[in-house]
Order: sequence, then structure tokens, then C-alpha cells
Amino acid sequence: MGDIELIDSHCHLIFENFEKDLEDVVLRLRSKGVKKLVHACCEFKEIPKLKKISHEFDEIYYSVGLHPLESEKWEQSSKSLLRRSAQEDRRVVAIGELGLDFFKNENKNMQIDALIPQMELACELELPVIIHCRDAANEMIAICNDLFRKGKCPKGVLHCWTGTPNEMKQFLDLGFYISFSGILTFPKAYEIHECAKIVPNDKYLIETDSPFLAPVPHRGKRNEPAFVENVAKFLADLRSTELITIAKESSKNAEDLFKFDLLI
Ligand SMILES: [Zn+2]
Repeated sequence: MGDIELIDSHCHLIFENFEKDLEDVVLRLRSKGVKKLVHACCEFKEIPKLKKISHEFDEIYYSVGLHPLESEKWEQSSKSLLRRSAQEDRRVVAIGELGLDFFKNENKNMQIDALIPQMELACELELPVIIHCRDAANEMIAICNDLFRKGKCPKGVLHCWTGTPNEMKQFLDLGFYISFSGILTFPKAYEIHECAKIVPNDKYLIETDSPFLAPVPHRGKRNEPAFVENVAKFLADLRSTELITIAKESSKNAEDLFKFDLLI
């Protein structure tokens, strides 16, 4: 692989399907030039485990936060729990994954009640947010616009991008990065392909979202960070450039957003 250095900006490795072979998974990602990864947090009970593996493997950094589909777990004390977790470990590089998921059209208000304090906390701690947004782009843009007007919108990334070029433009205008996952490699993902062609060089990241949504040619299998190379190659084709360019640009963008080196 030579000079290719990649950053998987979003994955999950503590689900039970990694219990038996996490060390092999790490060896494989090293063999593909993956230098860093951001392990996204979905719920509070994951935090001790994330802390543990991030200190076992140099590549692993993580976020702390509550996924919108776990919103019923948000409590009065949750904000201070997240604040403490973020402040006590230098491997924490973001708040999330947070956001809105209206796919099932349930508990919208509960999701918003968990989202806003997490956005405020990110601003307070000057950490970026990792945003999960499914079937809720308009609502998310409205909330971010409101925070932006008050000077309280954090930096961040829209992870696993599945929106339209028009929605992407609105998130870019708010200063957010856009992250492309294995979905990019699916033949019918026309709108995502369009977004991938036009996103500015300094505004995109790449990710696997392991263990979900493995990219072609691994489709249907368990996803893992080594496969971020497939996302990068596909993106290089779409943008009519070389893999090395995608590797350099996406890694620099991830460094700019997550500021790993400041935290070591
Ligand atoms: Zn995720």
C-alpha cells in the first residue's frame, strides 16, 4: 500500500460480532494503511468499553454521546455525565453520535430534547459533533440554523451521508463536513454519487460505519475499518482522481475536524 494513509471517521467495534477477533480486525486495518479511526458512541453504557479499547489500540479515538434512537435514555444528569467523560479522557474527540432519525416517525420531541443539550455541550467543550440524520434533514437544518444564529452551532460532520445535493449545500453552508460510507459504492445511490462529485476538497470525510453497510465488493458481510479503502477507491473514481489524493484530502479533513494530534 505504500503511502496510502486513511482515517475511518466513523465505526463501531464493540458490538458482540467483534468480540472474538478484534485484534485481527486491527491487524487488517493496519495492513490497509488505516492510521486512525473514530469509534462512535451510541449510548452511555458503551463509554467504559470505548475508553478501554482506545487505550489498547493506538488507532482508536472515540466520541461520547447518545444516538437519536436511544433518546429515551436521556436524563437530567446526562449532560454532566457526557461532560465528565469527555474531559477525563484525551482520546475523546467528538460528541455523538447525536441527531434525528425520523424513519419510523416516532418520539420526535424526545429526540429533539436529547439533541439540543448535546449540541450545547459540544459548543461549550469546543468539540465537533457527529450527526446521524435520517429522514430528518429539514428539521436538522432548522435546528442548526437556529443555533448558528445564536452563535452556538458546533463544528461537525454529517455521518453516513444519504441526502440530496441541495441538503448537502445547506449543511456545508453551516460549516459541516460530509462523510461518505459504504452506501456510496452501491450502484443505485445516484444522489449520493452526485454529492460525492461536487463536495469541496476540504469538506469531506470517509467512513465505514462498521459493522453495518459493507461497501462493494464486501456487500452483505460484516463491515470493518479495513474496508474504508473500498470507499476511498470508489470516491476516487467518482471524482476522477487518484486514491492517494482521496487519502490525503480525507485524512487532512478528519485531522482538521477532530484535532487528534492536539489531544495526544
Ligand atoms: Zn454509527
